[in-house]
Amino acid sequence: SQRVVIIGAGIVGVNLADELVSRGWKDITVVEQGPLNMPGGSTSHAPGLVFQTNPSKTMTRLAKYTVEKLLSLKKDGQGCFNQLGGLEVATTPERLEELKRRHGYATSWGIEARLVSGEECIQMYPLLNKETVLGGLHIPTDGLALAARATQLLIERTREAGVRYLGNTPVTDIERSNGHVTGVTTPNGSVPADIVVSCAGFWGVEIGAMVGLQVPLLPLAHQYAKTTALPGLRNREVNSRINGMNATLPILRHQDQDLYYREHGDQFGIGYYGHRPMPVVAGSLGLTPEHVDEKNMPSRLDFTSRDFETAWNESEKLLPALRETHIADGFNGIFSFTPDGGPIIGRAPDLEGFYVAEAVWVTHSAGIAQAVAQILTTGRSEIDVGECDISRFEEIQLSREYVSETSQQNFVEIYDIIHPLAPKVSPRNLRISPFNVRQRELGAYFLEVGGWERPFWYEANAELLKYLPAKWQPVERDAWSAQHYSPISAAEAWKTRNAVAMYDMTAFHRFEVSGPGALHLLQRLTTSDLKKEPGSITYTLLLDDAAGIRGDIFVSRIEDEVFQIGANSATEFHYLSREARFQRQQSPSQWVQVREITGSTCSIGLWGPRARDVIAGVSTDDFSNKGLPYFGVKKVHVAGIPVLAFRKSYVGELGWELQTSAELGLRLWDAIAQAGKLHGIIAAGRAALNSLRLEKGYRIYGADMGTEHDPLEAGVVSAVDLKKKDDFVGKAGLSRRPKTPARRLRCLAINDGQSLVLGKEPVFYKGKAAGYITTAAFGFTVGRPIAYAWLPGSVSLGETVEAEYFGRHIAATVVAEPLYDPRNSRLLD
Ligand code: FAD
Repeated sequence: SQRVVIIGAGIVGVNLADELVSRGWKDITVVEQGPLNMPGGSTSHAPGLVFQTNPSKTMTRLAKYTVEKLLSLKKDGQGCFNQLGGLEVATTPERLEELKRRHGYATSWGIEARLVSGEECIQMYPLLNKETVLGGLHIPTDGLALAARATQLLIERTREAGVRYLGNTPVTDIERSNGHVTGVTTPNGSVPADIVVSCAGFWGVEIGAMVGLQVPLLPLAHQYAKTTALPGLRNREVNSRINGMNATLPILRHQDQDLYYREHGDQFGIGYYGHRPMPVVAGSLGLTPEHVDEKNMPSRLDFTSRDFETAWNESEKLLPALRETHIADGFNGIFSFTPDGGPIIGRAPDLEGFYVAEAVWVTHSAGIAQAVAQILTTGRSEIDVGECDISRFEEIQLSREYVSETSQQNFVEIYDIIHPLAPKVSPRNLRISPFNVRQRELGAYFLEVGGWERPFWYEANAELLKYLPAKWQPVERDAWSAQHYSPISAAEAWKTRNAVAMYDMTAFHRFEVSGPGALHLLQRLTTSDLKKEPGSITYTLLLDDAAGIRGDIFVSRIEDEVFQIGANSATEFHYLSREARFQRQQSPSQWVQVREITGSTCSIGLWGPRARDVIAGVSTDDFSNKGLPYFGVKKVHVAGIPVLAFRKSYVGELGWELQTSAELGLRLWDAIAQAGKLHGIIAAGRAALNSLRLEKGYRIYGADMGTEHDPLEAGVVSAVDLKKKDDFVGKAGLSRRPKTPARRLRCLAINDGQSLVLGKEPVFYKGKAAGYITTAAFGFTVGRPIAYAWLPGSVSLGETVEAEYFGRHIAATVVAEPLYDPRNSRLLD
């Protein structure tokens, strides 16, 4: 067991201590700046509503575990969770539709949920106004977490198990030596440690700053008010005097007006997200006083009643009985928001032994603590927490300005109905490729991901629709799937398959691994044998010790000691960088460095049966099968511009990714566009690309597969070289994985040829929820919608399943994949 210091005794810190002692770790100290009986952080006043359903599978599973744990935590026969159920109501037709989608998420992620009519809502919650409520979503296992009580019970339990608590003890510095933490500094002296985990909630920025780590969270105040006693409830029998147990109605959400409600005995608690964002700098709040009480704590600011006026008016409309009450008490409570709304957990990329677990709701607290404890004790979390990992952010996303703007936007949108493709409102045009000016001229429809502007289609291609053969005509879409969509994508897909198109591939991550130890590093971390001649490309996997997939990457050997990696996210970059650092320390002769080159380079995917005609007009290099075979890479010149040409294709057609440095990008684009004119070249967008890649069965890491899956289940076993002699991370784990997988990622073709799904919908097999859709698209070449789905391994090819889309069941057939060109003849010719 290592010496662990946990900073913060909020619901996250104490849960982590508990999860660690339950795994046999012994030397644990929790250091808390406030008094332990009420530390004064967000947990001290959290109303504790736990709505488990979330579009994210990870977040839902973390919430589910939290509920289970809180239910099990008891003292004097009384627990820490009042399982009243959760009711989300709709007062608009749009919300009613959204609730159907949320019902789908719940079903996909294994949470029991029921769509209920307006009348049923009233039966369940008689105080609701029957004139306004159109329907609802009921989750019987949701409820109220008694967060402060749970924290105290966990402190008691872990103390008995030997955890040491230092209350009223602020951490003022983190001690380090040789890139490793060694302890924390407090006014009472140092506390030595091998591992420090910051569970400091919205003080995370200040703790991070002690070690030069930018923690991308923004503390924001959020209004919470309590009414006076409701006359109708005054004599109601309440089943406990413990705050939170004295409630009988489901917890209630009225997202159309950014409101939520719970009971406090005969009073009502009202939470509101509709007010202006109110950012706070935690460091400006001063020291936590020695004595904290419910009214005086650093995380609680004065109530600004004017910001609550709309909330009150809307609450009276929804719950008319509240007209007989008024606000007895209110406050602006502080907690953390982040650029993408997710928690921030995991290892600091550049400091060994330093971890964070911040921006975590009570709802996910025990789940996050379990995940972090598993990472610390076994190296991996059972629940895939990649989307919560601090290393998912790129440098630009860590800037104070970016964090502030995007986190405030997340506050504003917290209950909004957000389309899965919807871009951020702001900042836009943060990262643009060198082709952006031309893309605008062509009428690109841009969507944003990770700050990158990515064209989805080009209005300039609209006239191609006139010539589109009947077989390629897209189907009519429903209002939801028609958002951020244009039939022009069908024409772009058609041109790619039948002529040639250019795609902007700049936003994909690229980094360079170089040095005498480069091969050794990549041999050790990937599933393939990379001892190949320079000029080869390999599609390979990064596994964890248990053979869960932690990434899929393209490795191109450019020179003996220079490799280029094509990856999905910043996480892979941080992983490789850290492993390279270890290798440099452990064997200096195997020196290796990892360098980010995404922004300094750019890339055009030139693909289609006429790609060779285009390139011949603009380059004298040999692009024949012999000169540059499939999965080969070489240096060439295109219109006099030095280019790295990668013979690979994300759409399944002949062609290359042509990469050059950023400043030459525009010239490269123009040269190819000019040379392509004769051959009918077009610029094509991500919507077409997504359809074409799905027809080829190419997976998207994170959406189609993750650390919860092994290569066999995910259908990527061809990326594992079973004969590879060198040991690699995950090799032993692979041999422990079942040879007949219990679940598999399968390709579905929608039977009626037109009903679309978008991803995350539940899939039913023999009438039972059995899996979920990962990614989906209309397959323009195959002329029908297609989807990938996780299904039980026993489901066979040719069997029928049903996906639920807005409450409607859509029949689909499990089909052999890939649907397009299974022999790769289009790629190899
Ligand atoms: P905290 O409880 O803030 O704990 C962090 C601790 O770290 C603090 O005790 C602090 O004193 C300590 N600390 C900080 N710096 C130092 C230092 N330098 N040295 C030593 N100790 C330090 N979530 C839900 O799930 N459901 C809800 O209904 C809900 N409603 C909310 C309503 C309001 C009004 C607010 C403000 C929040 C709400 N939340 C809700 C969010 C939830 O309360 C928080 O996300 C959660 O409590 C955070 O827990 P934590 O342990 O990470 O942070």
